[in-house]
Amino acid sequence: MSATADTIAAIATPPGRGGIGIVRVSGPAAAEVAEHLAGGLPRPRRAAFRSFRGAAGEALDHGLVLFFPAPHSCTGEDVIELHGHGGPVVMDMLLERVLTCGVRLAQPGEFSQRAYLNGKLDLAQAEAVADLIEAGTREAAGGALRSLRGEFSRRVAELRTALIGLQAELEASIDFPDEGGEVALASPVAPRLGAVQAALEALCAQARRGSLLREGLTVVLLGQPNVGKSSLLNVLAGNDLAIVTAEPGTTRDVVREHIALAGLPVQILDTAGLRDSASAVEREGIHRAWRAAETADHVLLVVDDRAGPGESERETLQRCPAGAACTVVRNKIDLSGGAPGLRPSGATPEIGVSALSGAGLDALRAHLSASAGRDAEAGVFLARRRHLDALERTAAALAAARAALEGETGEELIAEELRHAQRALGEISGKFTSEDLLGEIFASFCIGK
Ligand code: GDP
Repeated sequence: MSATADTIAAIATPPGRGGIGIVRVSGPAAAEVAEHLAGGLPRPRRAAFRSFRGAAGEALDHGLVLFFPAPHSCTGEDVIELHGHGGPVVMDMLLERVLTCGVRLAQPGEFSQRAYLNGKLDLAQAEAVADLIEAGTREAAGGALRSLRGEFSRRVAELRTALIGLQAELEASIDFPDEGGEVALASPVAPRLGAVQAALEALCAQARRGSLLREGLTVVLLGQPNVGKSSLLNVLAGNDLAIVTAEPGTTRDVVREHIALAGLPVQILDTAGLRDSASAVEREGIHRAWRAAETADHVLLVVDDRAGPGESERETLQRCPAGAACTVVRNKIDLSGGAPGLRPSGATPEIGVSALSGAGLDALRAHLSASAGRDAEAGVFLARRRHLDALERTAAALAAARAALEGETGEELIAEELRHAQRALGEISGKFTSEDLLGEIFASFCIGK
């Protein structure tokens, strides 16, 4: 697939009005665009102030032209940027004019795709461009920038290199089995495989924390009616979104609110009170509450501190999804006189709060943040689900290789697992990624990116 066959253009700045708007052009006809519209090519990488002219020579706008000749541009092709006045009509006129110069409109993500195809960025870095632009918090932006700079890709590449070394050694011993491969191999391979597994585990942990920064943490509030779930959602979110009444069973649907908890995007879901009910509407609400709980990273089981957790709460805790953290929130301590904050408890942590007075809420926020691994924040990568999948498949293949090594099943099997591991790692940078998946990834970018 040739990336340089045609020339593409798009408005690179967001729709709407702003001081400046930018039309970006990439491909072999980019220089021609500058000739036609702006009276000639400026010197490479130097801004030139020009009039932008229509086909009949009429002025459309004026502003700066920049020329980045191939291969030293963001896409690796000739790139022209026209910086005009940032109004939708001006930008439309400029883009329309550019499209009369043998240029076509870019598809979503096509600039990044060309950068990838021309070796300017690997796939993880191209994804980081989109993630940086879409970052909802400073921490998420920091993680995306680290990936964009290639730190994540470098770590993945180091692991791949180590695996290729191991694999070469094993395969050499398969080719020359007479040279005492089997016995001599077991000792150097095992510790090296162990070292790769440890490095992979560390990378997985950083990527998992990074993925929370991207996807956010999903917190689900469960509990009996009237214990203060909606009030808690409202004080955490700082508004009056969920209806709070003294009447049990108000929240029949699942109410969602997005908040940022010390830089971590958090989605909080308030659910119907869990209790046996004859009402069909309420039963549906309870059903939805459990469905929501299945998506939770963290379940907050809210109780009235005056009553404390009872039989029903113990049952709820048992039904909580295995992958989710669970905390009992003992609300209404202003009425019970209970202590605010984390309390000594059994297996499930308990926190005393009052949604009414605000006591204990900082401790609850800190607890949520800590359980998301925020205390070990430094150096996370804003990983996507796709990256985590690949890392997990790598880990599984390495575990299988280790089992084969320990079971002395023969080098072929070990080498096969190492190949699987290596391939899975290669998917992160795009080395072994299908055209379909590439298309899907870039199509999710927006136009002009
Ligand atoms: P939900 O059914 O669990 O969502 O409970 P709500 O949030 O609707 O609250 C039920 C009632 O308890 C309302 O009258 C709230 O004002 C009250 N309430 C909630 N939290 C507190 C609290 O911490 N202290 C006191 N005194 N009342 C509260």
